[in-house]
Amino acid sequence: MKILECDYFVVGSGIAGLMSALKLAPHGRVLVATKKDRADSNTNYAQGGIACVMASEDSFAEHIRDTLVAGAGLCDEAVVRQIVSAGPERIRELEQLGLAFAESGGSGSGYDLGKEGGHSRRRVLHAGDITGRRIEEVLLDRAHAERNITVVEHAMVIDLITTSWLGQDADNRCVGAYVLDRISGEVLAVRAAHVVLASGGGGKVYLYTSNPDIATGDGVAIAWRAGARIRDMEFIQFHPTCLYHPEAKSFLISEAVRGEGARLVDRQGRPFMEKYDVRGELAPRDIVARAIDREMKTSGAPCMYLDIRHRSKEFLVERFPTIYETCRRFGVDMARDLVPVVPAAHYFCGGIEAGVDGATNIPNLFACGEVACTGLHGANRLASNSLLEALVCAHEMAGRVQGMPPPAGYAKAKIPDWEPGHAVSSDEEIVVEHNWNEVRTCLWDYVGIVRTNKRLERAMRRIRNLRQEIRQYYLDYLLTADILELRNIADVGELIIRSAESRKESRGLHYTLDYPNLLPEARDTVIADPPGGHI
Ligand SMILES: Cc1cc2nc3c(=O)[nH]c(=O)nc-3n(C[C@H](O)[C@H](O)[C@H](O)COP(=O)(O)OP(=O)(O)OC[C@H]3O[C@@H](n4cnc5c(N)ncnc54)[C@H](O)[C@@H]3O)c2cc1C
Repeated sequence: MKILECDYFVVGSGIAGLMSALKLAPHGRVLVATKKDRADSNTNYAQGGIACVMASEDSFAEHIRDTLVAGAGLCDEAVVRQIVSAGPERIRELEQLGLAFAESGGSGSGYDLGKEGGHSRRRVLHAGDITGRRIEEVLLDRAHAERNITVVEHAMVIDLITTSWLGQDADNRCVGAYVLDRISGEVLAVRAAHVVLASGGGGKVYLYTSNPDIATGDGVAIAWRAGARIRDMEFIQFHPTCLYHPEAKSFLISEAVRGEGARLVDRQGRPFMEKYDVRGELAPRDIVARAIDREMKTSGAPCMYLDIRHRSKEFLVERFPTIYETCRRFGVDMARDLVPVVPAAHYFCGGIEAGVDGATNIPNLFACGEVACTGLHGANRLASNSLLEALVCAHEMAGRVQGMPPPAGYAKAKIPDWEPGHAVSSDEEIVVEHNWNEVRTCLWDYVGIVRTNKRLERAMRRIRNLRQEIRQYYLDYLLTADILELRNIADVGELIIRSAESRKESRGLHYTLDYPNLLPEARDTVIADPPGGHI
């Protein structure tokens, strides 16, 4: 088995991974593994921008307050303060790397600052509606130019290698990982002094998601199996309106369409939002998502609809060129047809418990970006705070790691060959596909926007059966990326269900009909026991 050596092993090439790699490169050899093409990431899809205090009339105190309000009592205030106040410096650094944010004279800052839900000020820096794509391009260019950084595409991390798994050390230090080369099908190992998980979120755990295919929660599942503490997994942010079409994967219909007067209606064209909130279609995201979900659940309909037929085609083409054109490609003319929509899993507030410096409970293992739970978001994320978090945490992590000695004896750690066991080539792809759909449908139907004890119990029974079946499949057959991702979404599914079951209240993004009220004290949900069956 091939073993690759490096000082820093970074998993993921989104904003968190690439920024981490750039910061670590002056201190040693950095290997970045990314499971598909290098730009395949949630980062690449970010539209709105990065929240940061830039305008003269804005202040850190206001950004902190807005973040705490969104987080519904569960944010770690010290973390919020640290991340918010570090923002401007990190933005300047991104500009020095080559990112050009949109400018205008209006804000006094020189920037064209956007205003998004929950923000009391204009503070969202953007590069048109392709901020994420521009960030990816700039960071990839920079990483490419660094001699000390090697980016390996189609390299999917399977599991971490820790000293306690090797039977060397009760301390459970992280010394590397097993990786599947998706092109050759070979498994290789990486030995590293420090490992940074920057593998993003897990929207694909749900049937409908705004996330691209890479978002299967791998980092959370991998870290959990290795003994990391996992926090606040019940808080999943749903975007209310994703286009509902079998081939339109993860296409968002922006809130601005409702801002221009679109009504949410059922199949018969009857509006329903007034039943739920006096603000109607312009109620906050979580309320709109919950209302759509309730209409779908009570009527059994697979989707609801946006109705903006009172606007002319000329207006729609001019105001929403991309949305109009995308809908048209899927046979929906916004000027004449109802636009089918469903809410979609968008952002994971929870994840691997980590400090702002990325430190986890496993020595030499760090987590950064959406995969981590630092306490910034609490029970609900304030829009555009996540890219900011990734920037600040990558910087703090590198500051911490560069001064750390490698774990004792890591260079000598004898990494056993990957054991394919009695694996044979799988001709049962249908089983994998079926289980993929079953996990995602189970989470969507029973652990979605509105929860109940009964639905969670039902989901747990199904997910436990599925995990058992998947584990057997994993042991019996040759590894493929599909099987690995299936194992990960099932593990993450169980983490979400367990966390949701243990929260006996409705707070932020966790809403249950059985406990509709807030408990007086806000507590994090922590899962500290690994599932067993590591590797
Ligand atoms: C449609 C959309 C719009 C958004 N808009 C905004 C916005 O305007 N502002 C904002 O702040 N946030 C926004 N977000 C959220 C934000 O984009 C993400 O939270 C952020 O980009 C996450 O960055 P990351 O580096 O942690 O993860 P990602 O950018 O998702 O990168 C993860 C990387 O890890 C790799 N990876 C995953 N698993 C493995 C594995 N097992 N082995 C190897 N590699 C692996 C992936 O291939 C990828 O390269 C949006 C998200 C979406 C989906």
